[in-house]
Amino acid sequence: MILSPCTWVAKDGLRCSTMNGLHGLTLSEHLWYEDGNVILVATNQAFRVHRGVLSQHSAVFRDLFTVPQPSSALLVDGCAVVHLADDPLHLEFLLSAMYDRSYLQRIAEVASGILSLSHKYDIESFYEEAIYRLLEDYPVTFDRFRSTEQYFLEPFEAAHHAGSIFIINAARRIRTPELLELLPLAFYLCSLLDGSLLVKGVPRSNGELEKLSADDLLRCINGKEGLMKANAAATMCLGPFTESLADDCKVFETCKKALVAITQDALEADIFSACDALTNIDSWIDEKARKYALCERCAGNIRSVHRDAQKEVWDTLIDIFELREDLPTSTDLAPSGR
Ligand SMILES: [Zn+2]
Repeated sequence: MILSPCTWVAKDGLRCSTMNGLHGLTLSEHLWYEDGNVILVATNQAFRVHRGVLSQHSAVFRDLFTVPQPSSALLVDGCAVVHLADDPLHLEFLLSAMYDRSYLQRIAEVASGILSLSHKYDIESFYEEAIYRLLEDYPVTFDRFRSTEQYFLEPFEAAHHAGSIFIINAARRIRTPELLELLPLAFYLCSLLDGSLLVKGVPRSNGELEKLSADDLLRCINGKEGLMKANAAATMCLGPFTESLADDCKVFETCKKALVAITQDALEADIFSACDALTNIDSWIDEKARKYALCERCAGNIRSVHRDAQKEVWDTLIDIFELREDLPTSTDLAPSGR
């Protein structure tokens, strides 16, 4: 990405005067190096960092610093002041990771912020690592999702996945195939959030709120009905129907009675009427099988039928959330597709 320094450097009279002594700006506590030689400004946040560190990580910054500064360019304490049209919190995340690689963590807010700017500033290693971190918690295949512990009935808590709002917003900003591919799961998780969290937004590290766009909020609200129907279909195997039992069951009458008792428990636990159609309830099924003496063959059959039904739900998330036009094609996902 080629950027003209004129768009970066505050050189017009008005901005220079308000920048006098960095008046009105908040200086970063952690990213203000006394020996820094460039001051980055995003909105009202200022960061005093090192050109060498920025150049080492980003060809975009490297190219920028090779362009001679205009004589009218503002200098503060000998540092060029560079204005960036970035979210200051995202810039803080990116710079923090440049100085301390361990900062690049799996927290969705941090990883999504770093993704947005590493894409803009062409920092491929950060981009790849941030995607890798997100994939640890937000798998893109059903098999990986189903074996990811936080999506089991215990300890599944929708509020733990509020970070999916950051992922959706990052995908909307930079629209890279790797991020767009995360949208179906991110929308699924968002639609399970408490209504006020979804509408008012989730807290960001700086105390502001991160919200979905109106269109994406609507997708979540509309998607709830689709998920409810999908869950009702996926949990039919827990209904009192003998076809859920194994063909080779040796204690059919016992298992029939057990299934009726399990259906009753499922009703009481709201398993049929929930929206979280993809929660792994294998351990719940096993517990009830033990409690009501359902044989292992029938328990295995029910688990298997439920799993297959969930795979179908997983595959229809794209339609439930009307994402077909947003998702990358297989060509986009080729290694050179970024
Ligand atoms: Zn049986």
